[in-house]
Amino acid sequence: SKRGRIDTFIAKRLQIPKKAVKELIANNQVLVDEVVVTQADLQINEFSFIVCQDQILQQRTRQYWMLNKPKGVVSATVDKQHPTAVDLLTGVDKELLHIAGRLDVNSTGLLLITNDAKWSQALMSPEAKVTKSYQVTLANAIDEQYIEAFAQGMWFEYEGITTQPATLLPITSHQAIVELKEGKYHQIKRMFGRFRNPVIGLHRQSIGKIILDENLPAGEFRALTADEVNWVK
Ligand code: URA
Repeated sequence: SKRGRIDTFIAKRLQIPKKAVKELIANNQVLVDEVVVTQADLQINEFSFIVCQDQILQQRTRQYWMLNKPKGVVSATVDKQHPTAVDLLTGVDKELLHIAGRLDVNSTGLLLITNDAKWSQALMSPEAKVTKSYQVTLANAIDEQYIEAFAQGMWFEYEGITTQPATLLPITSHQAIVELKEGKYHQIKRMFGRFRNPVIGLHRQSIGKIILDENLPAGEFRALTADEVNWVK
């Protein structure tokens, strides 16, 4: 965990005993977020700005990125075989970066990448029930009966669960918008798989209020706006 006490952090970082840290604190040599520390047990986190004897020990800004994921890129930070989503974030500090809601290697569209674990957990927790919207292209024509089946939920034997009600909005004979409030492994492919209708294209358009920028070409990224970040509780 990145949370803990200030004295523990400094002792570990400077490789000095806790007693020496106490001394530094007593001498007003430790600052957290520009305030002199008086309590050795002050709680800090990965974004606390920590200075000791005029030396910066930690300084990190919160990062929130939107990437238009291309096909063939894996939703991971490192991978031996494929280029990763994080590889595409050129010129960015990669420390603590992780993906909030993965996409399959062949899926495209909105991918959120952040170093703020609290934020990604709030966004992706099952309880939050944030709506994820996908444009799906099928090998065969969509049948009316899918709509009811998606709304009802489907039994997934492997997980032993029934999927949450999902919305299927056909747009053409072979294309639809699917809205999910969860994200089981290969969920959309498995749902259409019940009808022996292979998914040939899967493009995420939105996660909650965060909508993929129309102007963002595949492989490109941009920082989220304050509104896009702060909507997440
Ligand atoms: N459902 C899938 O099958 N794949 C994705 O990438 C997202 C949802």
